[in-house]
Amino acid sequence: MSTEPAGLAARVVVVGAGHAAATLVGLLRQAGHTGEIVLVGDELDHPYQRPPLSKKFAEGELEQWIRPVEFYAEQGVTVRLGERATAIDVAARVLTLQGGDTVDYDVLVLATGARPRPLPVPGADLSGVGALRTLGDARVLRKWLDEERRLVVVGGGYIGLEVAAVVRSRGSAATVLEREDRLLARVASPELSAIMAERHGAAGTEIRTGAQVVGIEGDAGQVRQVVLADGSTLDADAVLVGVGAIPNASLAEEAGIGCEGGGIVVDETARTDVDGILAIGDVTVRPIAGLPGRRRLESIPSATEQAKQAVATIHGTAQPAPEVPWFWSDQFDLKLKIAGIVAPGQQTVLRGDSSTGRFALFHLVDGVPVAVESANAAPEFMAGKKWISAGTRVDPERLADPGSQPRDAVV
Ligand code: FAD
Repeated sequence: MSTEPAGLAARVVVVGAGHAAATLVGLLRQAGHTGEIVLVGDELDHPYQRPPLSKKFAEGELEQWIRPVEFYAEQGVTVRLGERATAIDVAARVLTLQGGDTVDYDVLVLATGARPRPLPVPGADLSGVGALRTLGDARVLRKWLDEERRLVVVGGGYIGLEVAAVVRSRGSAATVLEREDRLLARVASPELSAIMAERHGAAGTEIRTGAQVVGIEGDAGQVRQVVLADGSTLDADAVLVGVGAIPNASLAEEAGIGCEGGGIVVDETARTDVDGILAIGDVTVRPIAGLPGRRRLESIPSATEQAKQAVATIHGTAQPAPEVPWFWSDQFDLKLKIAGIVAPGQQTVLRGDSSTGRFALFHLVDGVPVAVESANAAPEFMAGKKWISAGTRVDPERLADPGSQPRDAVV
């Protein structure tokens, strides 16, 4: 990981025109970058926000551009949309595009994101079965909702639950199938999983945990039912598959750039192990301050942090202070904000009452918060994030008392 600072005049080529990339090009110009910037993306739309796709698809508020469309021309950023990068010559510093065009770079930034993990069962290619990653996917989902199709969501993760919440709020039927024994098993504490299962159940969503989908059946090419491992079936006019994402790392792998667990390995400055090549966003696996090993985070704050790291690396300026990883999700009237990483063996302290919709779950190790999962509780979230970062010790009993201020819990 030895990329030298390339400076303000460097020719920077960014592959992928998603959240990380659009953030990066804006920050580069803000920091006085004078060199050429080229953004190559295989989607047809200018970079847009993905969070509304699972939260606002019913309201038609889908096209939320990360930067105004005029921004790129005004800032002298060449945008090549609908173009896929297919190869990197790391020695000659040349990127090849699908049509055969080549683009030279001083610094190449890979921001290729991730794609939905396919469901490996027969029938997954039937019409009416889809995933949610792009604007096009969200438009399809919106159409299903308008047609009042019976929706089965496969996967009880954040995206699936957000979609189920919108669908139920509009009065349509939704069933969520989760293979694990609880919702959000990979990303949330058992306590938060239980609260969310209760909330979705109360809204009339049918939730089945321990439910493994083994097939999808249809007629005339159109989905009709989902088949579970126990032999039972569920009628469905539409199936949303939300079973995780796979990093788009093949471009890097084929160029010999170090990868791990499917993602591109970077350090805390966004450098890969190849000179002149950085990587940011969902496609990366990276060290997180205070945690062992490397992790792949899929969140807007993570993409933004790495965009800042890349600017500092390209310009040779001071790196940003490490951020505590955090994430948000909107389901019904719950504005969830989660910071830190939840793991087994932590002490959990509930502050507030989950039935009121305003609460925070703090997760402590030896009296120090390492994660906070909050709903409609901004002060608790902010305090928790600060404590995680500073390693502040708190008193669990005072923390659990909602009559006191969060800061009164500090010992
Ligand atoms: P992306 O935004 O995926 O962009 C990568 C781009 O690169 C894509 O356009 C891809 O097509 C393109 N690309 C890939 N390979 C090539 C190639 N070879 N050549 C050219 N282009 C290529 N995060 C939150 O923090 N909060 C939320 O509430 C939240 N909600 C979400 C809801 C949904 C429905 C989804 C899908 C994601 C959500 N996320 C949320 C996650 C967040 O959107 C991602 O973490 C973020 O988009 C990552 O940015 P990225 O630039 O790394 O990848």
